[in-house]
Amino acid sequence: MVKVKYLERPKLSNIERVFFADFLSGLKVTFKNLLRKTITTKYPYEKLTPPKRFRGTHAHRVKDGKEPPSFVVLEKFMEIHEGESRCVACYMCQQACPMPSLFKIEAQQLPNGKKRVTRFDMNLLNCLYCGLCVDACPVDCIIMTDEFENASDNRASCVIHMNDMCERGISFDKRRYNEPDRIWIDDKAREKLWGQIRWTYT
Ligand code: SF4
Ligand code: SF4
Repeated sequence: MVKVKYLERPKLSNIERVFFADFLSGLKVTFKNLLRKTITTKYPYEKLTPPKRFRGTHAHRVKDGKEPPSFVVLEKFMEIHEGESRCVACYMCQQACPMPSLFKIEAQQLPNGKKRVTRFDMNLLNCLYCGLCVDACPVDCIIMTDEFENASDNRASCVIHMNDMCERGISFDKRRYNEPDRIWIDDKAREKLWGQIRWTYT
């Protein structure tokens, strides 16, 4: 049998052998961290608020007067009332998704010639939480929120539907719409712990 050597065993000096130098340097790290402020939390008893740009459970923005100009153009072809999902059934989110089959989007043509979205389901069991669907949406309808507690003991509850998504979108915007789009809600505290981010150009 061939014996393969991957690492050379470090050679210790006599002083290191007698005074357990490695052991003491390990203890130094232990004591240093023992006195530092804890950065972990006792979940689920303590919960951090994720950043606004966190990629959590999906939601739909509704028609509320804050739509982008693209929606104003597309709205002419749609039957969407105040407080209803902004979705114009363009399927761009599904096209952009690496797992398109997780979407079930349907729309119907009304007698007045306009289109109405009748179904928007997403099976989050197949979702990678990559956010590509959000980037693809031309009317800022589909978003990702700060909600992340999706653990479940049944597959059915992992499929989210349009009405729930609208409610989640309304709640998210009520809580966080006006918040600056920064990465962490407590930038200052994190700067103290881990130092400042340094860009090449400011
Ligand atoms: S987050 Fe990514 S994987 Fe999930 S639905 Fe959107 S595009 Fe698809
Ligand atoms: S990209 Fe936006 S508007 Fe188009 S189908 Fe998806 S959620 Fe609806």
